[in-house]
Formats: sequence, structure tokens, C-alpha cells
Amino acid sequence: MELAAELLDLMGDETRVITQASVVERLSRDFYWYSPVLRELLDGKRADVVVQPVSTDEIRAVLRYCHAHDVPVTVRGAGTGNYGQSVPLAGGVLLDLQRMDRVLDISDDGVAECEPGARLGVLETTAREKGWELRCYPSTVVKASVGGFLGGGSGGIGSVAHGGLRDFNTVRAIEVVTMEAEPRVLMHEGEAVHDILHAWGSNGVMTRIWLALAPSVEWAQCAVSFRSFEAAFAFSEQIAVRSHWTKRLVTVFEWPIPSFFSPVRTLLREGEAAVFLMIAEAQRAKLEDAAMQANGNVTLSVAYGGLKSTPLLSDYTWNHTTLWAMKADPTWTYLQCGFDPARATEQLALLKTKYGADFLHHIEWMKNGAGVVFPAAIPVVRFSTAERLNEMIDYCRSIGVGVANPHVNHVEGGGRYREDNVQLQAKYRYDAKGLMNPGKMATFERREVTA
Ligand code: FAD
Repeated sequence: MELAAELLDLMGDETRVITQASVVERLSRDFYWYSPVLRELLDGKRADVVVQPVSTDEIRAVLRYCHAHDVPVTVRGAGTGNYGQSVPLAGGVLLDLQRMDRVLDISDDGVAECEPGARLGVLETTAREKGWELRCYPSTVVKASVGGFLGGGSGGIGSVAHGGLRDFNTVRAIEVVTMEAEPRVLMHEGEAVHDILHAWGSNGVMTRIWLALAPSVEWAQCAVSFRSFEAAFAFSEQIAVRSHWTKRLVTVFEWPIPSFFSPVRTLLREGEAAVFLMIAEAQRAKLEDAAMQANGNVTLSVAYGGLKSTPLLSDYTWNHTTLWAMKADPTWTYLQCGFDPARATEQLALLKTKYGADFLHHIEWMKNGAGVVFPAAIPVVRFSTAERLNEMIDYCRSIGVGVANPHVNHVEGGGRYREDNVQLQAKYRYDAKGLMNPGKMATFERREVTA
């Protein structure tokens, strides 16, 4: 029997086993096309069939079948990853978890329990109703899933205060289904969550997730314009590093990046750098004062009304900035950098001197796992060739700027791989045949499977 028919037999619901070419094609893609390098590599790759399970038992049944028949499986949340994380390289089954989307509980001490397909935006809204909020979320919050964020994301809005997903025990526990002859359902807690985090679904399927939340804050959104990038950066640093400011977002854009944000043009001043912030509503007036003292021009200062706010400043930050740049001119692409807080001004200047208008500074302040607030960055860079992009990456590294390369399609290349190889070791334990998202963990070598 052909693959789809066998799966239909297992699932017993034809609406959840999809073979229609256009749908399979669409669900096999993510935002890999952000990268001109990945576009060439991944265009046209697709699964053979999409299945949409509604329970852990169904997932186990699909994995059991795929293990027995050597069928590759790629997990998909909402498909908003930008490195082709959920693009199947070897066909097979696309396990689309969008129907497992329940927020199951928000405990009194602020831990959310959810299914993997739960939308981060739904979780944020539900949590806020109970006095909590996400510690950090990507700018794709409305669409992205909790499982996809853990599988392929890293941080975002909130990271200036709470670090990234891997920090401060934010991910409390993960339930994982293994790819074995008899798939097991295993609990990963504490340090063991790092076996699964950011492994691109290459070593198991997350079926339940426990995330620590933060007490909710009444936020305000502010935009401040500065004549020079240096002045904008210096102001942003004061807000980001000083602990008396309660903040969720501190972003800096060099001109002409603000000119790409067509829906909020009125908030921006021609030729000027801009700082976008989410700051505690209680500190809004104080922030306006601080901005004026720094010779900034406050162009927006409003209470935040949740993810449906208009404008929603976070829609222009993190990796959304790149999207706006590419809309304005498709030859823009991006890098993901981490500056040394002690040398950032010098490093930023060195990059400007070397690359001029081909390297536009976009800073996202963030806290690292040691509690140090530092300027992370998603610079908008001009793409000409892959060699030139690699040369930029090499130069960044040569001056002490860390780069997580977003133009490679394997876990190890992206810069979030654990040096102690725990994700790879988990792959050997849970997916020894190498059927989960094959090709995405480059250091994996298939071994003889006895069971
Ligand atoms: P998907 O793309 O569906 O999956 C991501 C990876 O996780 C894939 O490898 C997939 O196989 C795996 N996966 C999904 N579900 C599971 C599961 N249940 N078990 C095991 N593996 C699983 N990322 C950030 O970190 N911060 C940002 O601020 C940010 N901004 C972005 C802005 C734009 C405009 C875009 C296009 C992307 C951005 N991203 C950002 C990347 C991406 O949106 C986020 O990482 C998001 O959380 C991914 O969620 P998803 O549900 O779309 O995951």
C-alpha cells in the first residue's frame, strides 16, 4: 500500500492526511527564502504527505510506522522559521502539529503547560488574563507555535529582561516522543531540556511543554528619534543596562532602516536613527524626560494595548526588521550578531568603516545567561554573493563580534548548538536510524540499529 493510504489507515480521518500537491508544497516551506543562500539550496524540497495528529498516541502510531518502514519525518509548528528548519530534505512525512494547540494550564506560580502547536500569541493573551506574560517571544508571536519556538527559535521581545529561551530555567520541562520501533514518551526536565531545545525536531517530537512565565506588567510603547546612530545607541544602552528601568524591548535602527517601515512612517524622522521601546507604563513620563535630555525626539508614546495594538512596534523589531528591508529592496539580507558590551562602540564603528551603507546597524538589547545585558544585533546587510556574505561573517568574528549564521541549514551551523553535543547524543538515543528531519544535524552518522 502506498504511504498516504497506510497513514490514512492509522489515522482514520482523511482530512488529516493530506496529499494535495499545493497544500503539501505550502506546508513544506518556511521562511528560508529570507536567505538568498538557502533559497538556492531548499527551493522545491517537499514532503510526500502531510499528517495532522491530534494526540500523542497518534504521533506514536505515525512514528512507529515510519520507523518500521524507514520513512523520514519532519515536524512543523507554524512554519515561520527562517533557516529552513522545517523544510524536509528527504521527502517522507511532514508531521504538522497545528491541531494540537491547547493551552492546558497556567499554574498559580506562573508555569504554562501547553500542547506543542499552541500559538505563542494565544498563550501570551491567556497568561495576561491571569496576571502572567511570556518571558520572551519572537516577533512572529501571533503565528508561531510554542513547539516551533523551542525547536527552532531563540529569544526576542522580553529577552532584554529575561534572556533567551535557554536561559534562567524558562523552559521547565518537555515531553518528547522518540523515533524508535516502539516510540517512548519521555519527560525532560531541568538541564535535560537542553537535549531537545533548538534541535530542529531532529531528535524527537515535543508533545507537551511547560514554560515559566513572568508576572505581567502594564507596558507602554515608545519611539524616539536621534540625529545620529551613535546618540541613539548611547541612549538605548542607558535604558537597557540600568536595572531600574522595567523594559521588554529596546531596539535601535540606523537610518535608512526606519524608512523601510512604511506603515509607521509618521513616527520616523527623515535621515534619523530610531529607538523602539516597550517600557513599564509607570515609567513612561520618566522615559520621555530621559529621551529629551539625550536630545532625542519622542515620536510615539502610548500605553500598550496587547498584541492587537496599532501600531505594534514589535512588528518592526527582531527579524521583522529584515522582512521590511527585503520588502523595500530584495537585495537586503541579514546576519545575527552579538557584540562585546565593553567594545561595542568600537566594533560598530569598525563595521561601518569597512562596509558603509552595505551594513546597516540594527541592535536588539538582550540579557545573556550570566545576567549580562549586551547588544545583540540583526544587521541588515547587502547581498551580492555567498562569498561576500561569508567574508562579512569572518570579519565580524575577527573583531570579536559573534555570529550565529542564518544562512546554513543545519543545527550546528546556526550557532545555537551546544558545545557538549547533548542534542546529538539525544539523537543517537532517540533516533538512531536518523529519520527525524534528516540532514539537519550535520554531525550525525547513522549507526547500525539492532532493535
Ligand atoms: P517552525 O518553523 O514550524 O519550526 C521550527 C523548528 O522546530 C523546525 O525545525 C521544526 O521541525 C521544529 N519543531 C516544531 N515543532 C516541534 C515539535 N513539537 N517537536 C520538535 N520539533 C519541533 N525567532 C526568534 O527566536 N526570535 C524572533 O524574534 C524571530 N523573529 C522572526 C521574524 C520573522 C519575520 C520570521 C519570519 C521569523 C522570526 N523568527 C524569530 C523565527 C521563527 O518565527 C521563530 O523561531 C518561531 O518561534 C518558530 O515557530 P514555528 O511554530 O513557526 O516553528
